[in-house]
Amino acid sequence: MKIAIIGAGFSGLALGWYFAHSKLKSATITIFDKNVSASSIAAGLLHPFSGAHAKLNWRGFEGFQETIHLIKTASQASDQMICSPKKGIIRLALNQEQYNDFKRCSDQYPNEVEWLETSTCQKLLPGCAEAPGIFIKNGVAIHVPAYLKAMQKLCENFGIQFIKKEVRSLKEIDDFNLIVVAAGAESLGITELETQPMSIVKGQVLELSWPHHAIPLAHPLNSHVYLVMAQGNTSCLVGATYERDGNYLSNKQWIDIKRAKEELLPKAFALFPALKESKMINCYAGLRAVAKNHQPLARKIDKHVWILSGLGSKGLLYHTLYAKELVEKIEIEYML
Ligand SMILES: Cc1cc2nc3c(=O)[nH]c(=O)nc-3n(C[C@H](O)[C@H](O)[C@H](O)COP(=O)(O)OP(=O)(O)OC[C@H]3O[C@@H](n4cnc5c(N)ncnc54)[C@H](O)[C@@H]3O)c2cc1C
Repeated sequence: MKIAIIGAGFSGLALGWYFAHSKLKSATITIFDKNVSASSIAAGLLHPFSGAHAKLNWRGFEGFQETIHLIKTASQASDQMICSPKKGIIRLALNQEQYNDFKRCSDQYPNEVEWLETSTCQKLLPGCAEAPGIFIKNGVAIHVPAYLKAMQKLCENFGIQFIKKEVRSLKEIDDFNLIVVAAGAESLGITELETQPMSIVKGQVLELSWPHHAIPLAHPLNSHVYLVMAQGNTSCLVGATYERDGNYLSNKQWIDIKRAKEELLPKAFALFPALKESKMINCYAGLRAVAKNHQPLARKIDKHVWILSGLGSKGLLYHTLYAKELVEKIEIEYML
């Protein structure tokens, strides 16, 4: 039995891990990847209340638990810190609509979400905009490069082989008994998958120097944009844009600093005014795959071909849960 996984982002690595713990673990497992993933530029926010209205995400608690579980395992295999030691993400309500949405969220989920008055927000995050907000108690920031590295190491420890190769057509790897495509938005660039029901939303993140006199954020801060301290606390990530208007699979020159600045900086300054003094250090871009119903695409698409994609902007929340369930489905089919 030979299993091929295309893609070594969140989805592909989680698939490798769950296969290695399934009844198919004696199979030869190979993960193909061509390059850098959207996963590697993800800001690393993990909580089940993302989205403008802070509604509980579809299967949010399940996904969160499963990811935290795998992150703990990955942390044991890593010499770097993967998860922020301090729990909690703050979402500030900067207008009436956010006030109503966030208040509803804290009323509905009091065990998970606490309402914060303006003075408490100021105490927790000195220098942030003067506004009330919510504290998502278990939310965490993940150091994504460390997580990806640890997951690759875990997979290698289980004998999974990594090959650097772009797979343009599944015919190139038809010597495998089973193929799982986990190539994110670029799944649509593989000939046999062009018509999968997904769209592409480009996202850009700016890295800004942290103002000298400002105290580094003790928790990630989110409103119309998010601010997450980068490792070392000398810079922060500001994200993210949602760009739906281009053919990004054919246009590889996708970093557009002007657009990223126009869309992100005014919102970042409203959230944390001292950022006006910051310098831009970098700009990163990646592609999100969004399935038609906004739920991940995890299913069989041909006799021996399966797909896990369409994680949208919630890759961390969903990759473990959907990888685990997909492997369980495949296991049942192949063990019959
Ligand atoms: C700017 C930005 C910020 C984000 N921030 C967050 C965040 O804070 N929290 C969160 O949960 N999510 C975030 N996301 C979303 C998250 O990045 C995605 O949901 C996640 O990356 C999807 O993971 P994936 O493994 O399915 O796909 P990807 O991460 O895109 O990985 C696919 C992999 O397949 C490889 N590949 C593609 N085509 C081929 C091919 N033909 N042959 C071989 N290999 C191939 C790629 O090189 C890549 O490594 C963000 C996304 C963006 C764009």
